[in-house]
Amino acid sequence: MHGPWHERFAETPDVLRDDQHRQTIVQVLDVRFGGADFITMAGPCSVETELQLMRTASHLSQKGVRILRGGAFKPRSSPYAFQGLGLDGLKILAHARDQFGMAIVTEVLSETDVSMVAEYADILQIGSRNMENFSLLEAAARSGRPILLKRGMTATVPDLLRSAQCVLENGNPNVLLCERGIRTFDCVLRNTFDPGAIALLKHVSHLPVIADPSHAAGRRELVPAFARIAVAANADGMLVEVHPNPATAWSDGDQSLGLGGFDDMMASLDPWLSLRKASSAEFETTVSVPIELRVGEAAA
Ligand code: PEP
Ligand code: MN
Repeated sequence: MHGPWHERFAETPDVLRDDQHRQTIVQVLDVRFGGADFITMAGPCSVETELQLMRTASHLSQKGVRILRGGAFKPRSSPYAFQGLGLDGLKILAHARDQFGMAIVTEVLSETDVSMVAEYADILQIGSRNMENFSLLEAAARSGRPILLKRGMTATVPDLLRSAQCVLENGNPNVLLCERGIRTFDCVLRNTFDPGAIALLKHVSHLPVIADPSHAAGRRELVPAFARIAVAANADGMLVEVHPNPATAWSDGDQSLGLGGFDDMMASLDPWLSLRKASSAEFETTVSVPIELRVGEAAA
């Protein structure tokens, strides 16, 4: 990457793509984020019961999903909403990991919980609300676990990259950037999905980029379309909420896909994923060059 982009993102030099460092690969189990494959991480918003998580994990692992999501510590907007099972939730996640050989991604809310959560998690999720909690970022970075860094709901792309820079600065190169929708004037959907941010991040940064169509949409019927948009924007993977019975979910039921809904979405993604594979080499050479030229011209 050259010229205007380097100047625009000068505060975050270590996350920027250049000829020496084009792409970071974050490996978890045999799954490689940033490689040729689009990686799907799926599971419920919250870990609720052993049965709920095991049913979900069993279904997803049969469908080839290798990374299970589930919140044990929940950053709820209301103090009266379910706050997560805490350590009991982590233990249920560990059981699913043992049973199905899946890796676990789960959120850590507080600096003081990092070592406990890192014992159970293969990937530590830093949620939207904590994207700029720098003491948490430092502690999470130092755990050595890969970090799934969700974009704050009012954060710009440079803000997100500053937080990623903080993780790298604290000795952890394994960062997954996540676009999960932002707050805008449009209040019809839960958030405004920003695929432009995915394209921009892929263009300027060597870090893998993940989409979260569930929190972006807030409605399950839109999640498959958002997932297809993420593939088209060249995301490296997605994080999607799936529940065996969304109507009874303790959090985020409206945006959770049922098990059948998940299967339907993945089937609908298939042709798009084939297209992505076939065109990835071409995408690099035909798209990235003209964007740079246009910006260079505008700056001149
Ligand atoms: C979640 O993944 O369940 C979550 C709370 O996400 P976000 O931080 O993006 O709101
Ligand atoms: Mn959720």
